[in-house]
Amino acid sequence: MVYSDHFKGMEKGFDVHQAVAEANRCLLCHDPPCSRGCPGGTDPGTFIRKLRLRNITGAIRTIKQNNILGGSCSVLCPTARLCEGECCATDIDRPIQIGRIQRFLVEQSWIQDVKFFEKGEARAGKVAVVGSGPAGLSCAAEVAKGGYQVTVFESRSEVGGVLRYGVPSHRLSTTILENDLRSLRELGVEFRCDSPVQGDGAAEDLLNQGFDAVFLAPGLWKPIRLKEEDIEGVFTATDFLSSMREKKLDGLAPFFSGKDVAVIGGGSVAIDCVESALELGARDVYLVYRRSFTQMPAEEDETLSALRAGIHFLLLNQPVDYVTENDTLKGIRLARTQLGEKDASGRRRPVEIPGSEWVLAIDAVIEAIGSRAANDSPQWYPSVKVNSKNLVEVDRETGATSTKGIFAGGDIINGPALVIDAIRDGKVAATAIKGYLETLEVSK
Ligand SMILES: Cc1cc2nc3c(=O)[nH]c(=O)nc-3n(C[C@H](O)[C@H](O)[C@H](O)COP(=O)(O)OP(=O)(O)OC[C@H]3O[C@@H](n4cnc5c(N)ncnc54)[C@H](O)[C@@H]3O)c2cc1C
Repeated sequence: MVYSDHFKGMEKGFDVHQAVAEANRCLLCHDPPCSRGCPGGTDPGTFIRKLRLRNITGAIRTIKQNNILGGSCSVLCPTARLCEGECCATDIDRPIQIGRIQRFLVEQSWIQDVKFFEKGEARAGKVAVVGSGPAGLSCAAEVAKGGYQVTVFESRSEVGGVLRYGVPSHRLSTTILENDLRSLRELGVEFRCDSPVQGDGAAEDLLNQGFDAVFLAPGLWKPIRLKEEDIEGVFTATDFLSSMREKKLDGLAPFFSGKDVAVIGGGSVAIDCVESALELGARDVYLVYRRSFTQMPAEEDETLSALRAGIHFLLLNQPVDYVTENDTLKGIRLARTQLGEKDASGRRRPVEIPGSEWVLAIDAVIEAIGSRAANDSPQWYPSVKVNSKNLVEVDRETGATSTKGIFAGGDIINGPALVIDAIRDGKVAATAIKGYLETLEVSK
């Protein structure tokens, strides 16, 4: 068995017989809790019912009209705690595998090349979207469906945000992402890659350059660091996963192949990193987390996979410092912790045990301890109100910021969240933007 056998990866999708058989297990609840379990408004109750009646096109339409990234969500959503977590069949047997049914249906739409979208009748109104992650893409699609002209500005050379440059390719293949993007291209959305919106007031300037509304969706790309200084052998999760995704492996292989690696953090991103370190041929991989196993924010199936893959869990240990020689990493100084009183997150706080420090000899470290808004972000939208963490403040019903004509969504308003949360925000703001553009049309 190789390491990859232990991780979920991109399981093969259902074939038609498996999908129908799984749909046939559905209890056809009157007010399906699975549909209420999706933050993005996906309606498994309806698409599963349609599939049972062999109305495959109708089932696909239900998914795609709600969610332009239905393929990506079918493999990335933590369904066990969303739609499948609400499934009534759980009490009798096991939950319906909604994610895999959705994946089958979306893949059918690509195989059959079914087109669900046409650009609506052209209307006066131009919208700039900043950032091509799930929030930006979902907003762009909804606004374009209304017949408005949409331009997406993306600082990187390709579209997709975390879906392209964060999530490892064995969890989301480029093929799925590209197929999802086809629908956006059909809608006539214009993508300007390698085009960062930057400099003083650059977002507000878009409103002076002929755009009637702006949607900010730049995500969180500034890694939180243990130490700011450059040490050879220390990587941020953002840079590491991005290099993996872009196959820039020359700079990584010497630190990982046959080497001992520590990943700091207990979330899903940390698990992506341990998995990718194993993929690069690391010998021993340690996951360093300052709280306990049950407090880890990563999904349960992810942590169990990591355990089965032989990852060494260094729980109740927190990093204190790096041990270096000539700016090259030699080890990591850890302190043992014990759990104290509950903190604001509702979890018991890790408290360092005095005198418990020890050194783990290590060749490479990946810091996966979170990310935040880039330092310069308030500078390129200075009139927009942000909170103490530099997250943009919006009206949750509309995505409207404190500046007229500027809307926002995704991680930049939520902090680190889910793909489906970003998709929901994009749709919420798109509805408000279309309403706003109509008022502009009337007053012209
Ligand atoms: C490694 C990793 C794995 C994850 N796995 C999952 C998962 O399995 N399931 C799940 O539901 N969620 C997952 N998430 C979370 C999810 O990916 C994010 O919540 C989601 O991508 C946020 O979408 P967004 O559109 O707000 O931002 P992003 O996806 O971050 O996209 C923002 C885009 O804006 C661009 N940008 C930034 N600044 C500018 C600028 N000034 N001008 C132009 N463009 C700019 C960026 O280059 C980027 O392309 C994961 C996150 C990470 C980091």
